[in-house]
Amino acid sequence: MIAIINVPTNIEDFVNLKPWWRTEVPTEVILSANGIEDLLIKLKHEKKKPFFILDSELKDQQEFAKIFAQNSKFIFDASASEPRTDDVDKLVAYIKTLKETPTVLVGIGGGSTIDLTKATSICYANPKKAQEYQGYEMEMEKGIDIWALPTLSGTGAEITPIAVLRGPEKKLGINNKYTAADVAIIDPQLSSGATTFNRFFTMMDCYYHHYEITKSKTSNPEAILDAKDGVRLSREILSRDVEPFELESSIKAAMASILGGSSTIGGRVGAAHAISYGLSNSSPCLPHSIAVTISMLALETLYPDGYKDTVEFLKINNIAHPKASDYEIGEKDIDKMTNTAMGMGKLWDSAFGEQKDKYATEEFMRNIYIKIINQ
Ligand SMILES: [Zn+2]
Repeated sequence: MIAIINVPTNIEDFVNLKPWWRTEVPTEVILSANGIEDLLIKLKHEKKKPFFILDSELKDQQEFAKIFAQNSKFIFDASASEPRTDDVDKLVAYIKTLKETPTVLVGIGGGSTIDLTKATSICYANPKKAQEYQGYEMEMEKGIDIWALPTLSGTGAEITPIAVLRGPEKKLGINNKYTAADVAIIDPQLSSGATTFNRFFTMMDCYYHHYEITKSKTSNPEAILDAKDGVRLSREILSRDVEPFELESSIKAAMASILGGSSTIGGRVGAAHAISYGLSNSSPCLPHSIAVTISMLALETLYPDGYKDTVEFLKINNIAHPKASDYEIGEKDIDKMTNTAMGMGKLWDSAFGEQKDKYATEEFMRNIYIKIINQ
């Protein structure tokens, strides 16, 4: 059953869309033709005391001037991959020094900025350092309300109850129901200032999330249906040159991103993500979306159509195959990467189901990394 019959071609029709995702999400999703105005009106209407967490890339974009003029804010440099647990601890400490405690943290930016916002909210209400909360289903208190205004589509961060962080030991999310945004305002036009590189690779990651969930042995049926729609939308976007900003593609991207968030709630990614975590742990500046692309390029046997699509999308967009060696990953890292990948049990369950022990062996993972460093 495909729910998305028509993708709107203009913003008025987008705003009037009924929910196109099947998985129930805890976030209030607001579709908007003027995201910044709608955000400011809602804050005022609900008498909120906001604290803004803003992606530094937006500073020079005129449409965000009103937001940057706000007093209560933190500007985050999101260019160096995911936020660190350290960034969260510092921001929590800073917010605690404010005279007036904010009643909402508003994250405006790409996935990293929204993840920083989500992690800061929950860590504010819990006593330990952020790194202590990297993991699954820990008992935690709810923090300050979280609102998200994404300026890059595809991460799903506006919906997922996950804040991915780099800690001193590992890259791992805080996975908790209180890590989801309370409100997400979705205006596809806001991604017009993002670089082609960011738009392309973020949508690649979106495609991989959907693709791996459709192949998953442990994901629930609604998640798999959401992911099938997500594969269709992201494939349509990536099968064209993404360089010129087109409203229709950006509407599709915003829709695929929400499906990425909803399908993650009941679904789980698989082998390409498991392998990517090993790569990410060995290179502090390797963006997540590139790590997954490198991984998929080494998984032709397991995911033949995912591999084929990847090669095709890169070709159409005239982008060279990313290589691990560009991020200083080599033979010296193989043991550590294999170890990290071995620890991704839930993702291997998802990829292989009951046959995990037969296929997800140390030798299998080592061979993938050998292939990757020789590509
Ligand atoms: Zn991903």
